[in-house]
Amino acid sequence: MFGLVSIVLAVIQLQVSFAAGDTDYANKTPVELFQEYIRINTTTHNDLTPAVDFWKALANAAGVPINVIEIVQGYPIVVLKWAGTDSSLPSIMLNSHMDVVPADIEDGWAYDPFSGHIDENGVIYGRGTQDMKSVSIQYYEALRRLKENNVQFLRDVYMTLMPDEEVGAENGMIQFVKTAEFKAMNVGIELDEGTSYPLPVAPLFYQDKVVWQIQVDCHGVAAHGSTFPATNETATGKCRNVIDRFFAFRDEQFAIANASPTEAESYTSVNLNRLSGGTANNVIPSRVSLVFDIRLGTKVNEENFDNLIHKFIDESGENITVTYISKNQQSPATIANSSNPYFQAIACATKQVGIQILPVVPPGSTDARHVRNAGYPAFGFSPMPNTELLLHSVNERLAVSTFTNGITVYKAIINNLANIPGSETAEDGRVYLLTTAT
Ligand SMILES: [Zn+2]
Repeated sequence: MFGLVSIVLAVIQLQVSFAAGDTDYANKTPVELFQEYIRINTTTHNDLTPAVDFWKALANAAGVPINVIEIVQGYPIVVLKWAGTDSSLPSIMLNSHMDVVPADIEDGWAYDPFSGHIDENGVIYGRGTQDMKSVSIQYYEALRRLKENNVQFLRDVYMTLMPDEEVGAENGMIQFVKTAEFKAMNVGIELDEGTSYPLPVAPLFYQDKVVWQIQVDCHGVAAHGSTFPATNETATGKCRNVIDRFFAFRDEQFAIANASPTEAESYTSVNLNRLSGGTANNVIPSRVSLVFDIRLGTKVNEENFDNLIHKFIDESGENITVTYISKNQQSPATIANSSNPYFQAIACATKQVGIQILPVVPPGSTDARHVRNAGYPAFGFSPMPNTELLLHSVNERLAVSTFTNGITVYKAIINNLANIPGSETAEDGRVYLLTTAT
């Protein structure tokens, strides 16, 4: 994570209409483009220049303008624009992230994770095949084919590519939604990443859970290991009290999750992920620290939950402090029924191409939450039905047929979204957002 100090170091804008690339991207197949993109190692915090150059060449091949916005140095945000006939209407924003989580062949990969190898079964291997370089190329190919077929868009369509989704978007989407460039896009709906799914359906994320991480420091008597203070006066004894309370709550939430595992919005996950303290084997430690990672259920009232945390701490003893490492704001939900014309356009398109969508809240979170928090509706969707969940995993891979089918899916979705008549959508997208916390 990067602190505020490094933010807004520089705002560099490059308007590039023709990028000189030595690769003839215009004549490459979508699968070849997908392989090329996987071969660029965009592990978060790597230099993204090669990826930006790749997108400049693709914009050039498609004959569309590209903008590179660098709010924080080293973290470029790329924007490609397909202009519609009425730019005054709210636009369609197709977002994906360029960065991927680390991968090393030593971890047990069957092939080099940055090779884009296709095996004898027609499966393409590589970091980013599911999360989410496939989607970026699918957006692009769908747009290119629609343009080749002389399909005219009513609304502007943007492809945006973010630099650091995998580490929380401090230098990417969080900054981007505050810029004049973003405001000028007048976004009607944002599409972002979804997930693969082992059944013949594709989840459609309409809300994300928020992350709270807290550090609890328990202070107690420091003494020789041979002394015998009361349990509740020791740092470890106080920690036990803290853990007991958080784990009792965890057990309640686990029961809810266990009863309906696909309804991630209904439970708050709590995990104790770090424990530290102690200096020597024969010294009673004066301080022990605990770090909890908490993902709030979407109906949880933040103030009440905050009070609950403080109650647990207060009940556990004297000299216990709590520090918030992260405390994200609950994001609103995008309405996922026919009263939202953007949802309706997606539902009609997916039905038309025979893919079943399932509106859900994921257990984790994506860049879409920052867009919803900025007041714009957003859905997360990746067309990967009947696909093993391998995001961030060793041997992340995707069937080439699933990848190419996804282009057809996006062609239908983009065509429908970009041509919703102006009279059918509200000027202010906030009407398609709901706050669910009570
Ligand atoms: Zn992702």
